[in-house]
Amino acid sequence: MGRDSFKIYINKNNIIHNFNYIKIASNKEVITVVKANAYGHGLIEIIPILIEAGCRYFAVARESEAMEILNLNFSNIKILVFETLEDLSLLNRHKNLEMIINSLDEFQEALDLKLDFNQLHLKFDFGFARNGIYDSQFEEIKNLVTSNNIFFKGAMTHFFASSPTEMLQIQKNLIEAINYIGKNRFKIIHSQNSAATLLNVGEGSTHVRCGISVLGMVDIGLIDNNIKRSWSLSGPVYNIKNFDHLDFIGYERIDDLNVGNFSKVAKIKLGYGDGFSKINTNICCNINGKTYQIIHVSMDTSFILIDDFVKEGDIVEIYKNFEESNKHLNMAHYEYTTLLNKRIPRIIV
Ligand SMILES: *Cc1c(COP(=O)(O)O)cnc(C)c1O
Repeated sequence: MGRDSFKIYINKNNIIHNFNYIKIASNKEVITVVKANAYGHGLIEIIPILIEAGCRYFAVARESEAMEILNLNFSNIKILVFETLEDLSLLNRHKNLEMIINSLDEFQEALDLKLDFNQLHLKFDFGFARNGIYDSQFEEIKNLVTSNNIFFKGAMTHFFASSPTEMLQIQKNLIEAINYIGKNRFKIIHSQNSAATLLNVGEGSTHVRCGISVLGMVDIGLIDNNIKRSWSLSGPVYNIKNFDHLDFIGYERIDDLNVGNFSKVAKIKLGYGDGFSKINTNICCNINGKTYQIIHVSMDTSFILIDDFVKEGDIVEIYKNFEESNKHLNMAHYEYTTLLNKRIPRIIV
């Protein structure tokens, strides 16, 4: 009997490989984005691996995520927060914490509060999102920067477009805006997420901000064989039952399920209580090199239609064929590990 629970196995060497590949391919410093619990991989697991790889610069979306990292007490790392902090005084208490200035008002507030601009990055916006400063404000920004003799830590933008041509144009606009305000006013420049890094559209930037590629998952359209997947989800078949003895699978009446010619189910210890949502009903999983269909998902367990080749204790791998699962689930690749919650242990291999 397979007593063990399902686990996410994190491939340490592949993460280190991906980090180094991105650093070398981009020829820039890498700010590794570890928001959403390192996209579900686990902050406590991932940050030490990245530190070993040589990363000293991390980014998250929220204040709470930054605090979580600060509380882990890693020395010599910097943490950049994308969203405006709720408590700006954190910047004074944590000199390794950095934040993005998202608007002219926030810039003014930072001046009023006499924040240390060596912890602040100015965000430029070239789309319609109005998240960041935009062209009609550049003159006013330049005047404030000059009259207060401000030197920011960084200048940045986030690509809202996904076509390389549009990204190149935005990058050009960014560099022009920086030159207009004063290039020497910004120590570092960053704009590229993983897709833009792999497309190499960051001329003039000093850093890249990559998350998903370091963790080994890239958009289907952007497959790069140098990026190695860094996780797998697997666990054993807990037990096997014949239908003859069962009117129900989980809480579902057999008659209501599409079981075809099958007459056996395998039970696994994985369910929506682990973040393995019911939308996974009908996806395929892999046992002994063969694919089988998940027929039912409940809170703690799921059931798989199986044949005579499957035995108790055999290892079931979920999401092994990522593109195949994606055809059915139609999820962004970011969602896979992010959705799987803390009940599933993360094991570094
Ligand atoms: C999430 C995020 C990134 C990283 O994106 P990936 O596609 O995971 O590389 C970079 N910059 C900002 C502002 C982000 O929010």
